[in-house]
Formats: sequence, structure tokens, C-alpha cells
Amino acid sequence: RIEVTGLHKSFGTLDVLRGIDFTVPRGTSTVLLGPSGSGKTTVLRSLNVLDTPDRGVIRIDEVSVDFATLPPGKAGRAASQRLRAQSGMVFQSHNLFPHRTVLQNLIEGPVVAQKRPVDEVVAEARVLLDQVGLADRADSYPHQLSGGQQQRVGIARALALKPRVVLFDEPTSALDPELVGEVLAVIKDLAAQGWTTVIVTHEIRFAEHVADQVLFLDGGVIVERGSAAQVIGDPQEERTRRFLRRVL
Ligand code: ATP
Repeated sequence: RIEVTGLHKSFGTLDVLRGIDFTVPRGTSTVLLGPSGSGKTTVLRSLNVLDTPDRGVIRIDEVSVDFATLPPGKAGRAASQRLRAQSGMVFQSHNLFPHRTVLQNLIEGPVVAQKRPVDEVVAEARVLLDQVGLADRADSYPHQLSGGQQQRVGIARALALKPRVVLFDEPTSALDPELVGEVLAVIKDLAAQGWTTVIVTHEIRFAEHVADQVLFLDGGVIVERGSAAQVIGDPQEERTRRFLRRVL
């Protein structure tokens, strides 16, 4: 479960997040929609503490950080690190290690960062590869895979760290159109299996299928929120309608 309260973030004089509040119940999927520059990626990067919010509270399950009172130095970094470990991020482009096999890419984090036993991690990694339809590609190198396959490895790698929530930042926007469907299908499977997810995407039809909750952002605030049927099917705000007219 994610709880975000009063999130603010500026870059210089640009107020990118101007008071963001939302909750993602455990086992549900939330999709963030909004025009370019509305702050969607900054929300995700804040959840994963890749960006440090100026103020606001983020709680993921039992770990909570109040950024207004985050102590400087080591204590603050430790608190940020505990929160970061609660989520796994899937980026637009997968960032796999090019000189390591698919399996090695998956086990690196759990073995090196989490110091878990190799045998156990390898067994779990094989299950995850099976789940994303790549059981037979464990020994391939990233360049031997299609973009869609690479992105599915990226998803399996995020899951290998056993995060409480999985964050997807435009996971298909760097893919050729014919490869988008296979990646969206994997994400839909994860949502159906009960993973808690937050997804930034421009794939509106996919959002309609996968989202338990849709948040429409514009100018750093949530302008409209609700089920996909409400926000996409029957938007109440003019800004939401204008956005949907442009992208649908
Ligand atoms: P898109 O759909 O284009 O990815 P977005 O809704 O995800 O947009 P963000 O990436 O969150 O928007 O960016 C919001 C605003 O913050 C943009 O104007 C962007 O240029 C600015 N921004 C983001 N990161 C930084 C940074 N590190 N330094 C300065 N400005 C930034």
C-alpha cells in the first residue's frame, strides 16, 4: 500500500509537483495520465527517491518518510534508502548490463545488494523469467534479444528484488509499435496476480484495462481521479477532456 500526502517538488524556480495526495491500496494498479511536463515521472521518481521531494510524506507499507523533516547527511540517506528498497522501478529503457547474461542481470541485485544466497536467487530468477515468457533465454545476452524481450527482462529484474510495489515509467514508449503488446501483456499479468503497481503510460486503451484507479495530472496537481470508467470514459474536467481528445 502506498500513501502520498502533500508532495511538493521544485527544480529551481519550476514548481513541478504542487501538492500531490493519493493512496494505492495493496494489490491494485494506479495509472498516471497527463500531458508532457505535468509531473508524472517526477511522482514516480519521488516514490523511488530518485528525486527527493521538498516536502510531503510518502509511506510504502511500514516505511514512511516525511521529507520536510528529513535529517541531513547519513540519517537522511538511510531513511531514503529504506523507502527506496520498498519499490522496484521499470524504466523506459531497460538499462541491462550488456556484458552479462539475462540470468546474471537478474541475480546481480539480490545477490550483491541484498546478499541473498545464490542458489535461492537463481531458482527464483528462473521462475520470474518463465513468468515473463523468457525461460529459454536465461543464457542470452541483452543484444541477442528484441527490444520487447529486453524490456521484459527489465521487468523480471525489478521483481527479483522482491519490492512491495512496482513502478513503471512509460515502459513501452521506447519500443517499436509491434513490440508494445507483449510488454503490456506482462504488466497486465502482474497486476492480475496482485502486484501493487503505479504506471505512467500514454497507452490509454491499456490504462483502461489495467487501472483500478486513474490519476490525471496537469501542472503538478491531480486534476481528476477515479476509476478508468470515470476518468477516461466520462471525464468531468475540461482539462482531462482536452487531453483525452488529443491522445485518443
Ligand atoms: P513526460 O510525459 O514528457 O515524460 P512528465 O509528466 O513525466 O512528462 P516530468 O518528467 O515529471 O513530467 O517533468 C515535469 C517538469 O519538470 C518538466 O517541465 C521537466 O522539464 C522538469 N524536470 C524534470 N526533471 C528535472 C530536473 N532534473 N531538472 C530540471 N527540471 C526537471
